[in-house]
Amino acid sequence: MSNSNLFYQEQSNEVSLFNYAFEHELPVLIKGPTGCGKTRFVAHMAEKLNKPLYTVACHDDLTAADLVGRHLIGPQGTYWQDGPLTKAVREGGICYLDEVVEARKDTTVVLHPLADDRRVLPLERTGELLEAAPGFMLVVSYNPGYQNLLKGMKPSTRQRFVALRFDYPSAELEQQILIKEAGADPHLAFKLVELATALRRLEQNDLDEVASTRLLIYAARMIGSGMAPLEVCRCCLAEPLSDDPQTVKALMDVAKIYF
Ligand code: ADP
Repeated sequence: MSNSNLFYQEQSNEVSLFNYAFEHELPVLIKGPTGCGKTRFVAHMAEKLNKPLYTVACHDDLTAADLVGRHLIGPQGTYWQDGPLTKAVREGGICYLDEVVEARKDTTVVLHPLADDRRVLPLERTGELLEAAPGFMLVVSYNPGYQNLLKGMKPSTRQRFVALRFDYPSAELEQQILIKEAGADPHLAFKLVELATALRRLEQNDLDEVASTRLLIYAARMIGSGMAPLEVCRCCLAEPLSDDPQTVKALMDVAKIYF
């Protein structure tokens, strides 16, 4: 893992902030829109720090037991199996909870004592109180755009974290990402980022979502493989963003200016 060198284009000072948080055993919260590089950043940092990474994509059925672990039944009877959070706590690894606001509220009970200076994980079912091994780090992320009032993170939870705000990269950096990550030629990278910038300006009006860096990478790869650019724009940058035919048409009208 440590020699795969996952490409990550730094946007601001997030690498040194993360390093600081790691050294000082502070948990980190990353907020930002979908596909802007949060997961890639955490994977990159885990690689740089040479730490095992346990990533959990949270959803509305995710319970504390899914994070902590549970008893299972095997040929020899029941046995305990650590969940991803417990593994990270024991090994001194990084546990990354993606879209943490989606998880059930009972997960906060296990996150709170881990996210302050106690750094302990209560394993209710086995009666253990696990102390986090040195190097353990809790990282959570969410997309503020998806939040509703019910799902917002409680202040008592969020105030335990050092928070970083991510957004889509600046035009120059996003072009670099397309060149390095998708193998796009510089001219194509330039045009796609210009188009994305124009599409992102439309967001306020009709769209819940804007074209993400992830979608631009798909588009760059598809165009690079020889597919017709406008068709690629339709399936990567228009249809994923809206179900309304009028809106898709408006997005395609913008795409036609560039391709
Ligand atoms: P998020 O977790 O914010 O939804 P990801 O980290 O999964 O988004 O990013 C989606 C994809 O976009 C990544 O797989 C990667 O290819 C690319 N990407 C986005 N931002 C960056 C970046 N700063 N450096 C390198 N690749 C990036």
